[in-house]
Amino acid sequence: MKYISTRDISTSPMGVSSAQAIKKGLAPDRGLYMPVEIPTLNNEDLEKLATLPYEKRACEILSMFLCDYDKEQLLSDCIEAYSEERFPGGAAPLVHIGDSVYSLELWHGPTCAFKDMALQIMPRLLSSALKMTGEEKKARILVATSGDTGKAALEGYKDVDGIDICVFFPVDGVSTMQKMQMTTQEGDNVRVCAVRGNFDDAQNGVKAIFADNSLSEKALSRGFFFSSANSINWGRLAPQIVYYVSAYCDLMKSGAISIGDKINVCVPTGNFGNIFAAYIAKTMGLPIDKLICASNANCVLTDFIRTGLYDRTRTFYKTMSPSMDILISSNLERLLYLLGGAEVTSDCMQKLSECGKYQAPDALMAKIRESFYGYSCNEEETAEVILNTYTEKGYLADPHTCVALGCLEKYRNDTNDTTPTVVASTASPYKFAKDVIISLGKACDSDEPGMILSTLEDLTDTTAPAPLKATLSMPVRFKEVCDPCEMSDFVFAE
Ligand SMILES: *Cc1c(COP(=O)(O)O)cnc(C)c1O
Repeated sequence: MKYISTRDISTSPMGVSSAQAIKKGLAPDRGLYMPVEIPTLNNEDLEKLATLPYEKRACEILSMFLCDYDKEQLLSDCIEAYSEERFPGGAAPLVHIGDSVYSLELWHGPTCAFKDMALQIMPRLLSSALKMTGEEKKARILVATSGDTGKAALEGYKDVDGIDICVFFPVDGVSTMQKMQMTTQEGDNVRVCAVRGNFDDAQNGVKAIFADNSLSEKALSRGFFFSSANSINWGRLAPQIVYYVSAYCDLMKSGAISIGDKINVCVPTGNFGNIFAAYIAKTMGLPIDKLICASNANCVLTDFIRTGLYDRTRTFYKTMSPSMDILISSNLERLLYLLGGAEVTSDCMQKLSECGKYQAPDALMAKIRESFYGYSCNEEETAEVILNTYTEKGYLADPHTCVALGCLEKYRNDTNDTTPTVVASTASPYKFAKDVIISLGKACDSDEPGMILSTLEDLTDTTAPAPLKATLSMPVRFKEVCDPCEMSDFVFAE
């Protein structure tokens, strides 16, 4: 199966293999890679998948998209990525929280957030891609992070063959826990550096390195090339299709639905990767009816789904669901392409980069609205959902998940649609413990991570995830701080 760019308007586009798409990340015309066709799943396939454990479900789905990969290698990669050791209690457990609402807990991995679902397997896919394409140079992954992605990337890339990784975080722009998670990172091929400045300074520093040809050449002469771990890479998207299929299988197995029954999904959305993976699963034939796109106060997607106008020229809010504080949802481009074609997509993307906004054609919006509903929750509403979900359902959920639960409630009130619904739960409540404690109506004066974790434990009689607790007592390995202009020196220092 070939992959082509979302912006390729030629009549017979030249495709690349999945290994090349994963190695390159972004297409040369700055579009995103998409498979030329979406493989299909029928009832028989679903029945068979339902009998398999998560890692084998993952291998089956991934091999439908990554046709040039060796299936045995894929299976051994999936077995390692989703092992009991890395995901104690299962990779994607489904918890019924009442009223046919199921929380798909995607945060049982090493960094306690859903990015692990993709970043535990993607480095292995890249490592295979380098071998398959005969690449002799090493890949050096550069990441600028506002917190979660950096740690998830470090955990995913640590000790992977043929790849090393440098992570930059803004010195005062991450939480104490996030900083501890990164600076204590283990692995022989990882390096971490704080940058004096905010997230944009760190991000611009990394972009400047990618854009500087003399630095790329210098890297090549030293035997490596730069690559990114960014969520627009197909290697990060494909693994996310798996857990929607897996959730459907688990609903079948538990007797909650019969094969062929429709479900809805509701996803707390930032860059539109997670919810787009659910849409691909639907396109494959998984019986998903509606997709509810949940946003926080940065509700650019809610407005887009309702009006067809995508407008990033608006106030940016910092919220307690920071991983959704995004005004450019990059993977939306893939949906425009799938339903509207390359011409419309490249036109919209050009307007977005030139004017910060675009109006999508009515015909395209009609197609999008056949499946997608957009809702948003502000900070006050989110806090209320955290409290009510805990006191009324006995379920403790993080702010991102609660944005989704709040949006689902609004959708159900508007439509009376009570179809069984899978809600993507994207982070452990302990990852955002302070905001959770305050939302539960309790004081939390301390900024000390150990203290905050034990306060939430005592308050809710639950236990903080082991990896977060372990971080508290690990030695700090990386203490370096640099100015943005010194980032390239750090990248080349060995
Ligand atoms: C990254 C992230 C999201 C947003 O996912 P997208 O695929 O970018 O839409 C939501 N919640 C958490 C906790 C995240 O880390």
